[in-house]
Amino acid sequence: MDLVKAITLCEVGPRDGLQSEKTLLTTEQKVELINDMTAAGFRVIEVGSFVNPKAVPQMADTDDVFTRIAKAPDVEYRALIANLRGVRRAAGCGCRKVKLNVSASTAHNLANLNCTPSESVAGFKSCVEEAQNCNIAVSGSISMAFGSPWDKEIPIGDVKKVVEAYLAAGVTEISLSDAAGVAYPSQVFDMGKEMLQEYPQVKWWLHFHNTRGLGIANILAGMEAGFTNYDTSFGGVGGCPFVPGAAGNVTTEDVLHMCEQMKITTGIDLDLAMAVSKKAVSMLGHGTDGYLLR
Ligand code: ZN
Repeated sequence: MDLVKAITLCEVGPRDGLQSEKTLLTTEQKVELINDMTAAGFRVIEVGSFVNPKAVPQMADTDDVFTRIAKAPDVEYRALIANLRGVRRAAGCGCRKVKLNVSASTAHNLANLNCTPSESVAGFKSCVEEAQNCNIAVSGSISMAFGSPWDKEIPIGDVKKVVEAYLAAGVTEISLSDAAGVAYPSQVFDMGKEMLQEYPQVKWWLHFHNTRGLGIANILAGMEAGFTNYDTSFGGVGGCPFVPGAAGNVTTEDVLHMCEQMKITTGIDLDLAMAVSKKAVSMLGHGTDGYLLR
C-alpha cells in the first residue's frame, strides 16, 4: 500500500460529538476532557461552536470553555461559526481559529442554514475580514461534499464551485465533510486525487461520519490519495442534527490503533486518548460505536 507516513487528527468530539447528545455536559467536564486531549498529544482540537444556543444547547457555553481550558502554545483550538457574530464571540474568549461551513447541497443548506450555498458564500467575505481584524485564522468546511440524503449525487463541479468561493474569500484551509456518511472509499480516492491536483494551494481536511460503516475505510482511501488531516471523535460519539439516523464521526482511538499498527505517525498517545474516550463516554452515560472501547 502506498500511504502517507504521518497524519494529523483533529479531535472534534467536544463539538461534533457532543452537539447532538441529550446529556448536557458541564463546562467543567468539557474543560477536563479538552485538557486531557492536549496532554494526550492532540495538536488540533475542535472545542465547540459559536452558534445560536437555542439551536444547539450543548454548545451554549463554548465561550466559557475557551476561557477556561489550559491552552498549549502548539495546539490549535478551533470552533465552528456560522456568521459575523461567531467571529466576535471567538474574539471575545481567545479563540484564534474558526471554521465556517456551507453545504454543497442546496437542499441541505436550506434545511441547515436557511439559505442557498451561494448566499452562504456571499457572507464569507465579511466574516474573513472581521476575523483578520481580530487576528483569527479562518478555515472552511464543505458538508455533503460526497452526497446527501436530499440529492441523488452532488456533482464534483458543485463542490469545486464552493472551493473556489472559499478561495475567493481568502480561505485556503478547506474540509471536505461527509456529515451524512454516504461517502465510499473509491469515491474518496478519486475525488480526493482530483481536488489535491487541482487545488495544490489548499490545506485539506477530510471529515467522515460512520453512518454506513465506511468511515475508517474512507480515511484509509484518503491516506492513499495523499490527505494528511482528518477529523475524528472520541468513542465515535455524535450524529448530525440535520441528518436523521446519522452516526458519529470515525472513532478517534480506532484510527489511532490502525495508525499504530501500520506505523503511521500521529503524535498522539493511544492509551491516553483511550482514557479520554472512556471518560467522555462515562460522562454521557451510554455506550458508543467505538470498536476499541468495546
Ligand atoms: Zn460532522
